[in-house]
Amino acid sequence: MDQIRRVLIVGGTHGNEWTGVYLVKKLQRSPHLATRQSFTTHTLIANPQAHELGRRYVDSDLNRCFCQVDLENLALVTYEHQRAREIVQIYGTNGQTPVDFTIDVHSTTANMGQTVILRDTNSFSLQLAAYLSHSNPAIKILASAPSSKGKLYLDSISAFGCTVEVGAVAQGVLNAALFQQTEDLVNAILDFAEAYNCQPHNLPSPGTAVDLYQSWQTVDYPKNDQGELLAMVHPQLQFADYQPLHPGDPMFLTFAGDTLAYTGDCVVYPIFINEAAYYEKAIALRLTQTHTMVITP
Ligand SMILES: [Zn+2]
Repeated sequence: MDQIRRVLIVGGTHGNEWTGVYLVKKLQRSPHLATRQSFTTHTLIANPQAHELGRRYVDSDLNRCFCQVDLENLALVTYEHQRAREIVQIYGTNGQTPVDFTIDVHSTTANMGQTVILRDTNSFSLQLAAYLSHSNPAIKILASAPSSKGKLYLDSISAFGCTVEVGAVAQGVLNAALFQQTEDLVNAILDFAEAYNCQPHNLPSPGTAVDLYQSWQTVDYPKNDQGELLAMVHPQLQFADYQPLHPGDPMFLTFAGDTLAYTGDCVVYPIFINEAAYYEKAIALRLTQTHTMVITP
């Protein structure tokens, strides 16, 4: 793509993630904060009903409703499936106001600091990653695992997209320091889009190496036959997102006080550790591996 003409900043894809909701509300009150010369910026509260109810979603997870098969399946009539269709009809590639680049702002109860999740690792995404890492080395870059259903997430409605995850913050809570970190990160992404349009020679060039975490596999909690939890995330692992986990390191603590170790055979870097929203998804944590990629021409 030659130029980014429209950027969409989304908050409240999950209604109880207040950071993104209040950041979008702030930008709606003060649009100049998200204005850049070379493109127009749009903002959206993606799941307003869930936010009203103080819940992640009304019927189903909105951020799993964007695969083409589901969008075209009109038998899927949950609030979120209908909402996904509305969003695509407005901002999707063939919509009324198609956007070129979507920034979906989330928060997490895991200690993931400022994380940018890349939807793919094409040269645009890797340039964005290198730009952000250079602007702030504390920013973590996470490459998401390909989904068997194809495009699934809200940030896939446009040609380019990324997801912002900042934590640890509880659901339904605002943390001013993390709010500011989220705002800084979104601003840096907007600055990247502006440079992409106006000063591409200033962006990281092909051949530049990008260090990232590659999403690998998930680990569920130990459970009994009835699906009840048998253990909790081990205190040593709690809030240790992105820290190396070696074979034999503590992973879970049973209610009897026994430690259960990580039994893999390679060093991994867990993320989304004890994420509150993932108990229902049977995910205690997600394992990643470090990886270096090179920007291609
Ligand atoms: Zn979320």
